[in-house]
Amino acid sequence: MLKVADYDVVFAEVPDEVTLAMSLSLCPIRCTGCHSQHLWGDVGLELTTDLVDGLLHRYEGQVTCLCFMGGDNDPEMLHRMAAYVKGNNSGLRLAWYSGQPQLPQCWDASLWNYVKLGPYVKDLGPLSTPTTNQRLYRIDEDGTLVDITYRLQKGARPQDDTLSIAAR
Ligand code: SF4
Repeated sequence: MLKVADYDVVFAEVPDEVTLAMSLSLCPIRCTGCHSQHLWGDVGLELTTDLVDGLLHRYEGQVTCLCFMGGDNDPEMLHRMAAYVKGNNSGLRLAWYSGQPQLPQCWDASLWNYVKLGPYVKDLGPLSTPTTNQRLYRIDEDGTLVDITYRLQKGARPQDDTLSIAAR
């Protein structure tokens, strides 16, 4: 099961997108130094198609992207929900902020436009920090994951040796 603890329209999490970000609870990652420990527990409303439809209707024409923040406790369910949203909202881009360092077995690149991987490590810093372990990828049509983490870091440039990785 997936649960939505809260949601908001955000501008910095996905470059060039106005994003409706849904924070999902039941987080199993338990990063040391997590700033969102309220997401560890069983809180919020169950993520259903009705709930997603209602929120997307409320923000229709105002957002270009829907981002699921979390969902590592049930990536299969998250993929089913992504497939539902994609099938009913042409043009809306889909993003997933995962706390895992790798893609799950059920990964389907055709559903997603962006994915963030990696837990929060206090000593390395968040995505906005050049030393971060976390990576944000844009997913091209052929399923290639292109590292665009630098877009979240002031003054940073893409590095040739980390520009892209092949999808599994
Ligand atoms: S993945 Fe996010 S919410 Fe979960 S423990 Fe790590 S920082 Fe906290």
